[in-house]
Amino acid sequence: MSVRVRFAPSPTGFLHIGNVHTALFNWLFARHEGGESRLRIENTDTSREVAEATEQIQESLRWLGLDWDGELTFQLDRMERCREEAQRLLDEGHAYEDEGAIRIRMPDEGVTGWTDLIRGHIEYPNDKLEDLVAVRADGRPTYNFASPIEDWLDGITHVLRGEDHISNTPKQIRILEALGAPLPEYGHLANILGDDGRKLSKRHGDVTVEEFRADGYIPEALFNFLALLGWSYDDKTTVMSREELVERFTLDRVGASPAVFDYAKLDWLNGVYLRALPLDEYANRLVTYLREQGYDWDEELVRRAAPLVQEKIATLREFPAFAGFLFARPEATAVDGAVLPAAADALGAVEPFESDRIEAALRELAERLGLKPRDAFQPIRLAVTGSSVSPGLFESLELLGKEESLARIAGSGRGGPSGSSAR
Ligand code: GLU
Repeated sequence: MSVRVRFAPSPTGFLHIGNVHTALFNWLFARHEGGESRLRIENTDTSREVAEATEQIQESLRWLGLDWDGELTFQLDRMERCREEAQRLLDEGHAYEDEGAIRIRMPDEGVTGWTDLIRGHIEYPNDKLEDLVAVRADGRPTYNFASPIEDWLDGITHVLRGEDHISNTPKQIRILEALGAPLPEYGHLANILGDDGRKLSKRHGDVTVEEFRADGYIPEALFNFLALLGWSYDDKTTVMSREELVERFTLDRVGASPAVFDYAKLDWLNGVYLRALPLDEYANRLVTYLREQGYDWDEELVRRAAPLVQEKIATLREFPAFAGFLFARPEATAVDGAVLPAAADALGAVEPFESDRIEAALRELAERLGLKPRDAFQPIRLAVTGSSVSPGLFESLELLGKEESLARIAGSGRGGPSGSSAR
């Protein structure tokens, strides 16, 4: 029997990183097994008005490269079928009416158990299972009734979901048994925690896929990072491509204990992936990111700046602070640099205004003034970029062009006019 899994988010807003982690593990498992991965929107407890959340969920999944097989489905579309099944359970004596609602009869004795794919054997005493409402008095099926019915109708073979659902599993097993339906296998993934040991939430940092995207993480890095939350290949390999992850992912290496979300490790991994991109592709990512974030900076100049920053920034988000001086004149800083007038003269004579010629001229200047290159260059850097940390000075000057470079140097040397836009 081939594998078929599903990711079944409730459409409550932006996709939380814990949910996308569940989606990823389902996807990796399905792809590894050559099976199918479905996407189902569980809107029984919400409403039909979920278009926006549904679009956001799909957008986040697409961005991460988590595709799904077949059409996206909505749980509410199966409402009628759920009612019919509830009626059948009534007719067969597995359910009864209670103030207009339909309740499923749970056994009072014995246990309900399963072998969890991640946690081993789990069982619940049946006297702890209340007679579950399958269909409410207003005719709406509950999540706990609709979800296993859908798993059955869709031929889901493996239900991989968050540990919050462990206590739902015995009820869902009993429902499927009453329906005479086959049982899928169940596996419950551990929660993701912040570094204080509490469930990951807003106070720890980004929590939705869209926030990570807006903060300049790239999907390959987030994908790789999430795969390592609660799963490992060999306890030492960290950087793995999507193809390698698909090839290596098995459930027997998924752990049952909660994984801690290490933001610093994600930053590091993002930097690794960013530096490894071919320059053209790196520039594309920058351009796209900046456009998405609402910067209307000259695309050509962004592309020319790309090689200056690729080795230096760990997230795309750092670009505006690090290289924004190329696009708008920084607040002029009063630089106490006797070197500036001389630098202006030296740079004025450089023709064409290219980085290696600029470098030669400035090194010669430092020597002439008897200054260490560092000491000579720092005031120039400050004057031109507004910061003591910047991409390479000579390359930056070339990108700015002679006129703008000289204007900035002159501005700073005089104590500075108020900052104005350069372009
Ligand atoms: N809709 C549930 C959730 O978002 C998932 C239920 C399931 O996977 O069975 O937590």
